[in-house]
Amino acid sequence: MRATVARSIRIESIRSPCSQVGCLRLRPRLNDRYDMNHQSSTRWRNVFLDRDGVINENRVDHVKTWAEFHWLPGALEGLRLLTEHGFRIFIVTNQAAVNRGLITRSDLTEIHRRMITVAAAHGATIAGLRFCPHRPDEACGCRKPQPGMLLDLAREHQVDLAAAYMIGDAPSDIAAGQAAGCRTILVLSGRTPLDHPGVQEHPPTHIAANLLDAARWLCARAACVPFPAEQQKRDSYTLDHPAPVYSK
Ligand SMILES: [Zn+2]
Repeated sequence: MRATVARSIRIESIRSPCSQVGCLRLRPRLNDRYDMNHQSSTRWRNVFLDRDGVINENRVDHVKTWAEFHWLPGALEGLRLLTEHGFRIFIVTNQAAVNRGLITRSDLTEIHRRMITVAAAHGATIAGLRFCPHRPDEACGCRKPQPGMLLDLAREHQVDLAAAYMIGDAPSDIAAGQAAGCRTILVLSGRTPLDHPGVQEHPPTHIAANLLDAARWLCARAACVPFPAEQQKRDSYTLDHPAPVYSK
């Protein structure tokens, strides 16, 4: 049932005008004359997201099970909007709960598998995910504010970091994005109020209410320029999207 609903949403989405407010263009897949070498169209198309406080609600006692994973309002729509506008979405999340013994790696992976599956059913593709299992005292290179996870994903997926964005709810996310050379967006849907001293310390490129607000801002700046259909096809096939949606 869910698959049927998802498919109809996808088909409807590629036949309709862009849902971005103010955008008069049709969605990317309607443009079959797109120039694959058009540099400006891909400059903006990679975004790193923090998880807790951006996609799902923060929990002081950590999200340890799927039952404790609560989507934030607008998060799924924001993910879908970014996907529709050709952004490759990468999730980078500190999960010290692993090395604190509060959750196993396999349980965490199961939460992420479900998250990616639900996102896919809503038309959103997650292109990659990294989590840092280390506690702060382990002083690793991947726990944000260190940029290790972003650099790792950038190497694997050939991300132009200077043109990419990091979206997070904490100064440590903004610091990690800046250390990786990215532009940054602070969302206020998590644990950081606007008057937090860390916001002055690591001023983000932009501040948004939540992920949907941030996605709208990003998509407006990407000017809704179409992106390579081949890229969408390759990324999409890594998840459970029905292939016919992507065939011409
Ligand atoms: Zn780490």
